[in-house]
This record gives sequence, C-alpha cells and structure tokens, in this order.
Amino acid sequence: MAKISDNLTQIQSTIERAKKNSKYSQEVTIIAVTKSVNTERTKEAIENNIFHLGENRPEGLLAKKEEIKDKAIWHYIGTLQTRKVKQVINEIDYLHSLDRLSLADEIEKRAERPVKCFVQANVSGEESKHGLTKEDVIPFIQSLAQFTKIQIVGLMTMAPNTKDETVIRKVFSDLKQLQQEVVELHLPFAPCTELSMGMSNDYEIAIEEGATFVRIGTALVG
Ligand SMILES: *Cc1c(COP(=O)(O)O)cnc(C)c1O
Repeated sequence: MAKISDNLTQIQSTIERAKKNSKYSQEVTIIAVTKSVNTERTKEAIENNIFHLGENRPEGLLAKKEEIKDKAIWHYIGTLQTRKVKQVINEIDYLHSLDRLSLADEIEKRAERPVKCFVQANVSGEESKHGLTKEDVIPFIQSLAQFTKIQIVGLMTMAPNTKDETVIRKVFSDLKQLQQEVVELHLPFAPCTELSMGMSNDYEIAIEEGATFVRIGTALVG
C-alpha cells in the first residue's frame, strides 16, 4: 500500500491544476473516505493533516470516532436509514445524503443542535443512485423551512459510472447551476454555498466545475 503522504502529494497537485482551470476560484476541502480502511490507516491520514473524514455506515463511523477521539471532522456520506438517525446524528459534523422529508423529520426529532446537511441529488437519473431528481431539489429545500435542526450548506451528487468525460462534466455543471439557483432564493436556513462532488476517478473534473468538497477514498487511503 502506498504511503498516504505520497498519494496526497499527487492529489494536491491535481487539485491545484483543477482550481486553475475552474471558473469559480473556490476553496477545496479533501474528505478522506475511510469507509474501507482501518483506524490505523485513518490515523495516517490525520497525521498528514487531513482532518475531514467520510464514512458511510453508522458502525464504521462510531468505531473510528471512538478510537480517534475528537481530532477529526466527521462527514456521513452514505444513505442514512431513518432508524439509524439517532445513532449518528449527534456524532457527525456534516450529512451528505439528505434526500427525503422523512429523514428530515427524524433529524429534527433527534438532533441536539443544527446539522450541516447537503441535499443529495441524482442528477444523472441512474436508477441505482440515491437522491432527488434535479426538478425536485428546490421544492424539497423550500419545504424544509420549518425545521430548526437542518441547515442546508450545499448540494451533493455522484457522477454516473461511465468513462465519458462529457457526461460526467455535465452532471457536475448541472449541480453547480442548481446550487446557484438555491443561493438566489436567499433562504436563511439554506445558504447552500458548498458542492460535494468528485471521487477518486473524477475529482479533477468536479473541481473544474465548482466542487468545494471532494470525497476521495481509493486514490488517497485505499
Ligand atoms: C466510497 C465513496 C466515495 C469514495 O469513492 P472512491 O472512488 O474510493 O474515491 C465517495 N463518495 C461516496 C458517497 C462513497 O460512497
């Protein structure tokens, strides 16, 4: 397994190049997706000053958090079952997968403080992917006004499984456009300044299209 420091050097230079090619001059935060690696490897990421960590199962998140204590910033990036909300909602800093009203209801009930949420959109329309359709994102966000524990910090998506760069880029630019539309609504609970998009194989394109958080697993820690 390669050293994380070596992977990171490579990733950071790709990120710098992508930022130069982006029209948006945004800051980019790396989330190390540690769902497939152990705590020791996760600690190696932290030693390299990667403090944002992404997990997609309550069990994995809680186990790592227990051993890593409070050094990290925790992102929950997977589908969150409603019945698991109470296990994790007060343990995380960001939720990347808000995609339904029943989940918002449960968060409202269980959260002890406002939770920074990304609304997950299924821009490509692939059936296997979770998230709201493009058309449903804005009405969904507007319906969250009465929730005191939900703060919409941004939108999240996953690119379709294809090597066709044009298709991937279109998904990311569509999400960027949607994010700007949400910003224009000036909703106090939905500043929506962030874009969580880009994984190991497509983060360069995502950043060129405006990503502010990239979720990198395999290329960084895998
Ligand atoms: C696993 C996962 C990632 C990271 O994927 P890699 O291809 O390993 O970088 C990012 N986002 C989500 C939602 C994931 O489940």
